[in-house]
Amino acid sequence: MNGLSDAQFEELKHDLAHLLVELDGLLDLTEEGARPIELDQPIGRLSRMDAMQQREMAMANRDAHRARKRLVEEAIEAVDDGSYGLCVTCDRPIPWARLKALPEAPTCLTCQEKRDA
Ligand SMILES: [Zn+2]
Repeated sequence: MNGLSDAQFEELKHDLAHLLVELDGLLDLTEEGARPIELDQPIGRLSRMDAMQQREMAMANRDAHRARKRLVEEAIEAVDDGSYGLCVTCDRPIPWARLKALPEAPTCLTCQEKRDA
């Protein structure tokens, strides 16, 4: 049992579906910016450096979006197999407030902090 009410569970399922759409949109949107810079493009040396920096930022953003999307997909799978809302590390219910803020969270805050430490 994940300790969530039916209404909370429904809300989180909705949040996850919404997040997935949003992340897909972001990934589509940033595809352009992450394309390799064509070297024969008639831009000056400084603007080329700008362009490369922007591309690096765009790629880092895309990596973050992709990583988050993976978590969202895993959370949706967990909904399907009934393990959603339980910490993957300690198996305890993840508090509603944490899930509402971060619906794709695979761990409780305690385990997350241990992991980050
Ligand atoms: Zn935990």
